[in-house]
Amino acid sequence: MADLQATLDSIYSDILPRIGEGKVADYIPELAKVDPRQFGMAIVTVDGQVFRVGDADIAFSIQSISKVFTLTLALGKVGEGLWKRVGREPSGSAFNSIVQLEHESGIPRNPFINAGAIAVTDVVMAGHAPREAIGELLRFVRYLADDESIAIDDKVARSETQTGYRNVALANFMRAYRNLDHPVDHVLGVYFHQCALAMSCEQLARAGLFLAARGSNPMTGHSVVSPKRARRINALMLTCGHYDGSGDFAYHVGLPGKSGVGGGIFAVAPGIASIAVWSPGLNKVGNSQLGALALEMLAARTGWSVFGD
Ligand code: GLN
Repeated sequence: MADLQATLDSIYSDILPRIGEGKVADYIPELAKVDPRQFGMAIVTVDGQVFRVGDADIAFSIQSISKVFTLTLALGKVGEGLWKRVGREPSGSAFNSIVQLEHESGIPRNPFINAGAIAVTDVVMAGHAPREAIGELLRFVRYLADDESIAIDDKVARSETQTGYRNVALANFMRAYRNLDHPVDHVLGVYFHQCALAMSCEQLARAGLFLAARGSNPMTGHSVVSPKRARRINALMLTCGHYDGSGDFAYHVGLPGKSGVGGGIFAVAPGIASIAVWSPGLNKVGNSQLGALALEMLAARTGWSVFGD
């Protein structure tokens, strides 16, 4: 394998002059306080090597990246039945679009836009009180990363609970179309806490390693999902992981990936490595501007694009 530490170091020095580009998410007041002049990246290879650069150890709000973990849990609970509740097509719309949801009678386009993720969270909650569902998710992520120190940032969860009006609208819409089984405030309580998971790049890359390694984490020996399911989750990340920036991300980076408005991006080079990058400044569609650029550099310098080198 190429000298990955040297590759990461070269990416970091190319990014540094541009640090601070983009705009931090300010619709969640607690995220508006984050200093945009930060950048970290971590790679964990399927043979167990870890590479880091910059602020790779600082925990940040993973926000929508959590949707990958809840999707994995929901598929584990209800299998293919999940697709009655949510679609599998790219949305071509903003991550919090309301228009599309009404148009499609309360069945969200995919599990990675907000409406889709809220429906997935509703599935994960079956048989649980909200507090138990949050506990289950936290345990799952700690198990995936093999790291008991991972926690939820309650301030971020509270901040979004107080201001997440659009998500309240989306959830009410779905409830009206009978695509939510639990009360809106319960589902959103869980959803806001999952989004407020705080993880570092390294923790995130470790947690998602199973998606690069046919469903099993080679560092812990834990078998998480079947190879087929890992492949399918990757397919969904490739087509839907960056909202209406998904085509652009595939074009420039060519890896399955999932972004969050905290400025993180998780990406998978199947059979090779999992990667996490964080830089809080976002582009117009809500994806980390420098994070995407760093992944583009990584794919170009390693030849890891799934579309060929
Ligand atoms: N918690 C955020 C929201 O629901 C997640 C959005 C995102 O990361 N794109 O608006």
